[in-house]
Amino acid sequence: MTGHPETAPPTCTCLPPWPALATIIEGTTHPVVPSPAHTHASALYLAHCTGCGTAYTGSWKRLTPSFRAA
Ligand SMILES: [Zn+2]
Repeated sequence: MTGHPETAPPTCTCLPPWPALATIIEGTTHPVVPSPAHTHASALYLAHCTGCGTAYTGSWKRLTPSFRAA
C-alpha cells in the first residue's frame, strides 16, 4: 500500500550518493568515511552528507584518528 515517507530510511539525494561525509565534534567539522564497523566516535556522533545534509545512519570512521592542530 502507500507508505508514509517518514518510514523510509534517510537517503542521500546527491549523484553519486554520499559524495562525502562529515561529522561535527565539539563544534568542529571533521571529514569521515564509511567504515564496516562502528567506532567510538560513530557511536557518539552522527555523520551527515556534506552535499545535501542527510544524516548518515551507517557506521563511519574519522579520516584523522589523531587530529592535532598545527
Ligand atoms: Zn547528499
